[in-house]
Amino acid sequence: MGRNKKMNRHSIPTTASPDNTVVYSRAGNAGERMTIVSTEERTKALTSSFDAEVRPLIDLVDKLRGYGLDSDINLPAVAVIGDQSAGKSSVLEAISGVQLPRGTGIVTRCPLEMRMKHSEDEDMWEGKIMYKDVHDMDHEEIMLNRESVGELVRKAQKEMTDSAKGISDKLITLEVTSSDVPDLTVIDLPGIARNAVEGQPFDIEARIKSMIRKYIGRQETIILAVLQCNVDIATCEALKMAKEFDDEGGRTLGVLTKPDLLDKGAETGVVRILNNMEFTLSKGYIIVKCRGQEAISDGQSLKQALEVEEDFFKSHRHFGSLRPSQWGIPNLSTRLSRELKKHIKKLLPDLKEDVRSKLLETERDLHELGEDPPATASEKRQMALRMVTEFINIATTLTNGKRCDDPKFPQQINTLFSFARRSFTELHTTAAQEQPDTKDRTLKTELQQRMEASRGREFCNFLGKFELVESYAREYVLKLEKPALRCFDEVHSKTIEILKILAEKCFEKFPDFADRAKEIIIKTRKATQNDCKEEIQRYFKMENLVYSQDQTYGGELRNEEEKRRKEEEEEAERKNKAASKYNVQLGYVKDEDVNGIGKALLSLKSYYQIAAQRLCDVIPMIIQLHVFKEQVEDIRTQLMDIASDEKTMDHMEEDAYMAYKRSECKSRHERLQLAEEELDKI
Ligand code: GDP
Ligand code: MG
Repeated sequence: MGRNKKMNRHSIPTTASPDNTVVYSRAGNAGERMTIVSTEERTKALTSSFDAEVRPLIDLVDKLRGYGLDSDINLPAVAVIGDQSAGKSSVLEAISGVQLPRGTGIVTRCPLEMRMKHSEDEDMWEGKIMYKDVHDMDHEEIMLNRESVGELVRKAQKEMTDSAKGISDKLITLEVTSSDVPDLTVIDLPGIARNAVEGQPFDIEARIKSMIRKYIGRQETIILAVLQCNVDIATCEALKMAKEFDDEGGRTLGVLTKPDLLDKGAETGVVRILNNMEFTLSKGYIIVKCRGQEAISDGQSLKQALEVEEDFFKSHRHFGSLRPSQWGIPNLSTRLSRELKKHIKKLLPDLKEDVRSKLLETERDLHELGEDPPATASEKRQMALRMVTEFINIATTLTNGKRCDDPKFPQQINTLFSFARRSFTELHTTAAQEQPDTKDRTLKTELQQRMEASRGREFCNFLGKFELVESYAREYVLKLEKPALRCFDEVHSKTIEILKILAEKCFEKFPDFADRAKEIIIKTRKATQNDCKEEIQRYFKMENLVYSQDQTYGGELRNEEEKRRKEEEEEAERKNKAASKYNVQLGYVKDEDVNGIGKALLSLKSYYQIAAQRLCDVIPMIIQLHVFKEQVEDIRTQLMDIASDEKTMDHMEEDAYMAYKRSECKSRHERLQLAEEELDKI
C-alpha cells in the first residue's frame, strides 16, 4: 500500500464495526495523562506523539478487520455515534486532516473506517480507499492528494448503496499516510436521522439505529458519543443509545461540539456536563470546536482551525477556566489513543482465545461438510459408490441391532432395532392375551356340548377329541393374523423412516442422488410389503394345518399335566387347611374325567402354547428377513446401479447451499488462521 517507510509504526489500533464510527488513535506517551497546552505542542501532538506499543496494536486490529474477521469475532473498536449533523465527521476531519464529504442530510451513508498512519517524512501524503460495491466487487484506489478524498468517498458510497440516498452497513476503508496525521483508526458512522428525505428508505432511522446498535452493543467497542452542546443534550439520541447499551457509562466518552454556537447563558450548563455533574459518564467529556460552514467557505484549513480552536477556548469567558485536558481536538486524539491502547491490551487475551475457539469450531464445521465435491463424472461416480457403501454399511449395522455412533447422524436412527423388538414383544403379549382360558367354565361347557353333539358310537371315554382341539386351535391362530400383519407394518414403517433419514444424511451432498435414493426406498417398500404380507399370510395357512412333532407336543403336554397336578394339590391343601380350622378332615378328591374333557383341555392348552411360541418366533423372523435383509439388499443393488452409471452421475450436482456453506467456511477458516498467526506475533 505504498506506506512511507519512515512512518511511525507504533500507534494504537482501535477497531470499529461497520455500523459506527471507530477511531484508532495514536497514543500519548505510554498511557500517561497528557495535556497539550501550547500551539506548538498541540500541533505536534497530532503528528508526532507515539507510543512504541501502539502502532503494532493498531496494525494488528486493522489487519484482522481487513481479513474480514469482524464478521466472526467482535474486534476492539472505537465507534463514533452522534445525531445527524452533530459534528462527527468534522471531529474526524480535524483529527485526520482529511476533508470528508459534506452537505446536508445523511452525508455519511456507509461506515467509514479511517486508518491514519503517521509518517516521519514531512512531504509524505498518500491515501488509499478500499470497498466492495453492491455487486460485491472489490475496489481499491490510490489517492495522491487529500483534496480528492471527499469525492472518492462519495463515489464509493454511491457504488456501495446503488443509489444516491441509500445506506449500507458495509465498510469503506480509507487509509491515509501523512506527516500530519496521528496513528489512529477511525470509523465514521451514519448519523442518527430522524426522518427520511425523499428517495431514502422510509425506515432509515431504524436501519441506522440497528447498525449503530450492532457496534455499541458489543463490550469490545468504546463509544465516542458526539453531542452538539448547543442543543438540549437530554434529547440527543446518541446519548440515549449509549446509555441503553452502556448503562454504567464505562465505555462511553462524550465529545461536545459547536461551543461557538452556544446561546449566551447556556455555558454554565455545558460546564456542568463537562465536569461530569450531569449525564455522568465514567470516561467523562471533552469539548471541541471544529470548522463551521462559514469557516469552510472562507477557506480555513484544518491546521488553521486547530489554532482558532485553541484561541477560542483560551479566551472564552466560561471555558477558559476549564482544565486544559477537557478541551481541544489534540487532547481528544491523545485521550482516544490512551483509551484505545488500554482497551486493546485488555482485550488481547480474550481475542486470542476467541480466535482459537472459533478456529476449532470452524474446523469441526469443515469436517462435517466433508471433502470437496467431485468435479468429473468419474469422480462423482467414485464418490457416489463410497456414499452408497456408507449408507448400506450403516443400514446393515442398524438392522443387525448394533449402534451407529457417528455424530453426523441423529441419535434417532439407533432406535430401529429396539423399536422392532418392542413390536415383536407386543405380538407375544397379544398372543398370550388372545389365548382362550382353558380353566374357564364356559369353555369347558362349550367343549363338552360340542363333544356330545359330535358323538357317534364311541364309548364315553373315547370321544373324537382331536378334531375339536384342532378347530379350537385354528380359531385361536386365526385371531393372531391381524396382530402379526400389524407388527410387520409397524416395523416396516419405522425402517423406512430411518432409511430415509440415513439416505438424506449420507447423500446430502447430492440432493438429486438423495432424491433418487428415496424413490428407490419407496419402490422397495411396496415390493417388500407385498412379499412379506404374502409370506405372513402363507404362514397362517400353514398354521391352519395344526401340527406338532410328538416330542414337542408330548413335552408341552407333560408340562401342562405337571402344572395341573401341582395346582390341584395346592388347591386340596388350601381346602384342608380351611377345614382343619373347623376340625374337619377332608380327603383329596380328584375330579373325574369320564369323557376326557380334562384331557382335551390340557391338549388344547399345550397346543396353544406351541402355536403361540412358534408364531412369535417365526413372524419376527419373516419380518426381519424381508425388511432388514432382502429390502436392504434390494436397495443396495439399485443404488449401486445408479452410482455405477457415469452418465447419470454426470448430472448430479452438489447442493448449492452446501457448496456455499463450504466456501464460506473455508474462507472463515483462512482468515481465522491468518488472524491466529498475527496474534501469535504479538
Ligand atoms: P455529522 O453529520 O455529525 O458528521 O456532522 P458534520 O461534521 O457534517 O457537521 C455538521 C455541520 O456542523 C457542518 O456544517 C459543520 O461545518 C458544522 N460544525 C461541526 N462542528 C462545528 C463546530 O464546532 N462549530 C460550528 N460552528 N459548526 C460546526
Ligand atoms: Mg458525517
